[in-house]
Amino acid sequence: MATSATRFDPRTGLRRALHELPAYEALDDPEAIAVEYGIEPSNLLKLDGNENPYGPSPKTREALRGEYAVHHYSDSEQHRLRAALAARYGVNAASVIAGAGSDELIDLIFRIFVEEGDRIVVASPTFGMYAFDALLHGAVTVDVPRDDRWEIDAGALFEAARGAKAVFIPSPNNPTGNLMPQSLIDPLLDSGALIVIDEAYIEFADAESLAVRAASEPALVVMRTLSKWGGLAGMRVGAAITAPETIELLLRTKQPYNLSIAAEVAALAALEDAELLDEQAATLVAERDRVAAAVREFGWIDPWPSDASFLLCRLTGTDGLSLREALRRRGILTRYLDTERLRDHLRFSMGTPQQNDRLIEAIRDCGTELGVAR
Ligand code: PMP
Repeated sequence: MATSATRFDPRTGLRRALHELPAYEALDDPEAIAVEYGIEPSNLLKLDGNENPYGPSPKTREALRGEYAVHHYSDSEQHRLRAALAARYGVNAASVIAGAGSDELIDLIFRIFVEEGDRIVVASPTFGMYAFDALLHGAVTVDVPRDDRWEIDAGALFEAARGAKAVFIPSPNNPTGNLMPQSLIDPLLDSGALIVIDEAYIEFADAESLAVRAASEPALVVMRTLSKWGGLAGMRVGAAITAPETIELLLRTKQPYNLSIAAEVAALAALEDAELLDEQAATLVAERDRVAAAVREFGWIDPWPSDASFLLCRLTGTDGLSLREALRRRGILTRYLDTERLRDHLRFSMGTPQQNDRLIEAIRDCGTELGVAR
């Protein structure tokens, strides 16, 4: 007769690396917030996720209404989607792979390259997924904190990169919005580490993508996504661009049907709507500069220069959590990042011009409520 001691216990069976795993700080469910704050869900303005306020493009909406074969598996080699992404990024299809969001591809890079105990390098404050994946895979995250203007400490970064397995830098960075200087690339590539440049927000930046360079450079991976520019955050479509030999490895190790048929259909249609999406991105860039100038006038909220589709603002006389709460009571969702250096900061993404008018007025109003208006 088996004793209970032989039964599996998930707590002790859990991989050692996961015993201390903190929860990933994902976005709050807007419906739950609407209920909590007594707000009509249709009146919520969602500016917390760096999503596209215009929603899916017209061709995507139309394609998703049509007939498509959800009773079949998707193409595991992603022939059509890789060709369309490659055309958009100006590279060969052999240098591109699609994932269920770039999040999936970041995880896949860990799976194929990062051993337990390996070091990976980030420059905080930055996107949390790299350090989270490092924990999942038992790797050690080495942080090279940014300076007080959020610039990378290049010397310290090169030093940390030597002997590390991979370096993850978003450009533009989330949440600070600034670009990585391209002069850092060559010394980083010479460090011996895999260099991953995450260009989730490059469509909003005054900078060239590194995609073409990555397409034939095995030491460089460029991440792109259709979540922001493409209006498909909920469909989960991202891409990685690197040398064909690494793409081969990634294709062999991913889940075979990682993208749903619906995601593939939506993404192909969005790429056909690229011209319109580019125009919307240009509007968001103009809005970013307009909103920054408007709120700076208030005297207590100061947006950092941004090359992304969002603004990170430093607050005087109040903190990020207080302003987030005051805005929530007015139906506007923003992102507070609960770390020492960002306690007096709040991040919000750009809405449509009309939505931004509402945001600006709400911020003005909150300034009065919080007693910080000048
Ligand atoms: N990289 C960065 C820098 C991001 O800010 C985000 C989204 N917050 C992602 C990647 C994830 O993108 P995706 O939706 O493609 O997984």
